[in-house]
Amino acid sequence: MLRRDLRRKPTAPSTSSPWSGSVHTVDEAVLSAKSIVEAMSPPPVVVNDCTLRDGEQAPGVSFDLAEKVAIACALERAGVDEIEVGIPAMGRLEIEAMSAVAQSLERVQPIAWCRMLSADVDAAIRTGIRRVNVSIPLSDRQLAVKLGEGRPEALARIRRTVRYAVDLGLTVAVGGEDASRADPSFVCEVVVAAEESGATRFRFADTLGVLDPFTVHSVFRRLCAETDLELEFHGHDDLGMATANTLAAVQGGANHVSVCVLGLGERAGNAALEEVVTALEHIAGRRTNIVTKELGPLAELVASASRRPIPEGKPIVGGAAFTHESGIHVAGLLKDPQTYEGLSPEPFGRNRRIVLGKHSGGAGIRHALKELGLTADDRRVEAILELVRARAVATKKGVGPAELAKFHAETATPKVRRVAVAGGAR
Ligand SMILES: [Zn+2]
Repeated sequence: MLRRDLRRKPTAPSTSSPWSGSVHTVDEAVLSAKSIVEAMSPPPVVVNDCTLRDGEQAPGVSFDLAEKVAIACALERAGVDEIEVGIPAMGRLEIEAMSAVAQSLERVQPIAWCRMLSADVDAAIRTGIRRVNVSIPLSDRQLAVKLGEGRPEALARIRRTVRYAVDLGLTVAVGGEDASRADPSFVCEVVVAAEESGATRFRFADTLGVLDPFTVHSVFRRLCAETDLELEFHGHDDLGMATANTLAAVQGGANHVSVCVLGLGERAGNAALEEVVTALEHIAGRRTNIVTKELGPLAELVASASRRPIPEGKPIVGGAAFTHESGIHVAGLLKDPQTYEGLSPEPFGRNRRIVLGKHSGGAGIRHALKELGLTADDRRVEAILELVRARAVATKKGVGPAELAKFHAETATPKVRRVAVAGGAR
C-alpha cells in the first residue's frame, strides 16, 4: 500500500540540504526516543555492513581476497545481518572475489552493489548473489553531472532497472545517492516508483554527510508516511554526525542501518558499526543481533587489513575507551564504577583500566600499589604522586607498574633522613 501524497509541498531549503527546513525540536526527538523505548518489543534493527564495499572505498584502502573472507566471517560472528560484498561492475576479479566471500557465509545475506543499470545487474547475477542494491543519484546536480539526465529520466530508469532485476528473481533495494541534497518531493516519487516496481527497500544516503539528526528524523518520519518499503539510512561522517544521524533515522522509522566497521569509508568515513549498535541499545532501547564481545576483534581485523590503527579515543573499541586516569574520576570509580562509566566494559569483552599519569590522585596511587601488593601511608602516597606526575610530564606517557614499584622503593628512604634530622643535625 502506498501512503503518499505527492502534492505535498516540499520542505523549504534553508541550508546545504533541502530537507533542513522542517526541524523537530529537541523535546520531540526525546519524546520519539522514549516512545520507541516504550514500544512493545520492536523487532531488531537490521544491520547492513558496508565495510567491504564503501569501507574499501576509503582513500588508500584495499583488501585482498583472504582479508575480505576473514572480515566477512568476522562480521558474521559479530552478528551482522547483511554484508554489502562489493561492486560486480568492477570486473571479473571483483566478481570472483564477491562470489568467494558470499560462499564463505552461512547465515549472513550478501548484497551486491550496482548502479541503476541492467548491465550492472547482469554482472551481479554472475556473482551468484541474489540481493542487489541498485543505486542512483537523486540530487539534480548529481543527476545532471553524472548521468546527464533529469528527474523523469531517472524515474524511468528506476522502474526499468528494478523490474529487470526483480524479473531475474533478485531481491532489490533502491539506493538513493545524495538523497540528502535532493528535492524531498522527488525522493518521495522515487520511493513510490521503487515500491511499484517491486523493490523491497529504499536506502536514503546522506552521501556527503550534510545532515543533522533533527533533519534526518524528519526525513524518515516523512518517508514512513509515503511508503511501506523497508527504510534504510546510510550516513557519512563529514560533520561528525553519522552515528547520531543513523540513530535519528531509526527513531524516525528506519528499520535498517548501513554502517562500516570503525566508520571506514570515503573521506571522513561512514557511520561506525560499533557506535551505532551501541547507541541504538543504550539510547533508543533498540535491539540488534550484534554480539558485542566480537566488536573488538572485528575492529582489530579491519584496522589491520586497512592499515589504519584504531585511534586510542575511538568509542567502544579504542584503547582508552574504558581507561581512567584523573584523580577525581578514579576516586569515584573505585567506590562505584557507574559514577564515571556510562558503558560497562564487560559486555564488549573489555576491562576497566586505571592508569597513572599527570592527573592521577591519591586513590589511584593506592589502588595501583595494592595491585602490586604494596602499601603506603598518606605521606608516602603524596611523595609517590609527585614522582608519578613529574615522570608523566617528562615522558608524556603514563606510569607503569615497574616505575611505580621503583617510586615506592625510593620513597622509603625519607624516613631514615627524618630520623637523621631529628637526631640533631641543626
Ligand atoms: Zn557511502
